[in-house]
Amino acid sequence: MNDRIREKLSILADAAKYDVSCSSSGSKRKNDGDIGNASNGICHTYTEDGRCVSLLKILLTNHCIYDCAFCVSRKSNDVKRAAFTVDEVVQLTMNFYRRNYIEGLFLSSGIFKNADYTMERLLRIVKNFE
Ligand code: SF4
Repeated sequence: MNDRIREKLSILADAAKYDVSCSSSGSKRKNDGDIGNASNGICHTYTEDGRCVSLLKILLTNHCIYDCAFCVSRKSNDVKRAAFTVDEVVQLTMNFYRRNYIEGLFLSSGIFKNADYTMERLLRIVKNFE
């Protein structure tokens, strides 16, 4: 993973952690390379049959044209911004999957340009995994 992708991953995994969809979303453990530390962007959730699975949990982008008061990605918030390309998300996910780090992808996004433009990109990513 090159430095540019690593930096995007750090920003966009951090921005995604506020979405409480995973059991480890609120984990405060840092990834300093030791055993037992939560990896950057990897969270855990449960399947219908109770199996615990690891997901890569990221935003496509934390740029957003909206300003929802509760949201860390709101446009008026002074945070570092980043955006993955469709190919970058696909490559990153497949690399993590092949290494057995994850079993799935949790993907969300801020809205860039408009909702249709953003959703089109999310769907292009998902279609790679059909
Ligand atoms: S539209 Fe979504 S990402 Fe954008 S500010 Fe509102 S809640 Fe956050």
